[in-house]
Amino acid sequence: MKFDVLTLFPAMFEAVLGDSIIARAEKAGIIEMNFINIRDFSTNKHHKTDDYPYSGGGGMLMTPQPIYDAYKSIENKADKKPHTIYMSPQGKTFTQQKARELAGYEHIVILCGHYEGVDQRVLDMIVDEEISIGDFVLTGGEIPAMAVIDSVSRMLPGVLSGEENFTNESHFSGLLEHPQYTRPEEFMGVKIPDVLLSGHHKRIEEWKRQKSLEITYKKRPELLDSAELSKKDKEYIELIKKGEVL
Ligand code: SAM
Repeated sequence: MKFDVLTLFPAMFEAVLGDSIIARAEKAGIIEMNFINIRDFSTNKHHKTDDYPYSGGGGMLMTPQPIYDAYKSIENKADKKPHTIYMSPQGKTFTQQKARELAGYEHIVILCGHYEGVDQRVLDMIVDEEISIGDFVLTGGEIPAMAVIDSVSRMLPGVLSGEENFTNESHFSGLLEHPQYTRPEEFMGVKIPDVLLSGHHKRIEEWKRQKSLEITYKKRPELLDSAELSKKDKEYIELIKKGEVL
């Protein structure tokens, strides 16, 4: 899978994504990441990439020409139009489901805005969808783009090793993950739940599901409305509501 990122600050990506699991995925050839400096495409003699908004107000806007040309340089080399995302606080909020959907594309272009944002005309010309990482405003789209690349990449086959599985993680099935424990068996007088030492696989699986339901009910109850729940899950939630298990 290929990510082409259009940005004014490519070094930010190299500092963060040039390490750990994502870098390993790139070395293994599972993903390819290119960070394209929009400034390199400016035809302005000072390589300017921003200008004053016609609507007034403070701040600067990114001009359309360098973004359009940077995008075209990618599109012209591609077999088909890459799926193009603009990171924007006005977009739909990013979710695990969206990450899963994006993992199905072979080629994604991500445009990172800066300053007051981007001239609307170039957005209308190249962007397929806008994605936000939450209802707050950051100074640039670089951190949101890194969040998208990280979460999409870790879903691709071969990126996580066997131990680092994402299918039982929070949000994958619509629930939050159960609590986890590692060694020592007892820490500051607190023991791990007995069931985890029982070696009884079925009981452990049942415990994990029940804890997942309890935690979701406690921390993010609204997620239960859209999660895939069995009859047994629903019965257990009723017990939680009656205060019989928490
Ligand atoms: N003036 C814009 C508005 O009110 O919608 C906000 C511009 S913001 C200061 C600069 C850039 O940061 C945006 O163009 C976008 O790329 C990025 N950005 C800021 N907050 C974001 C968020 N929550 N999710 C994704 N991108 C964001």
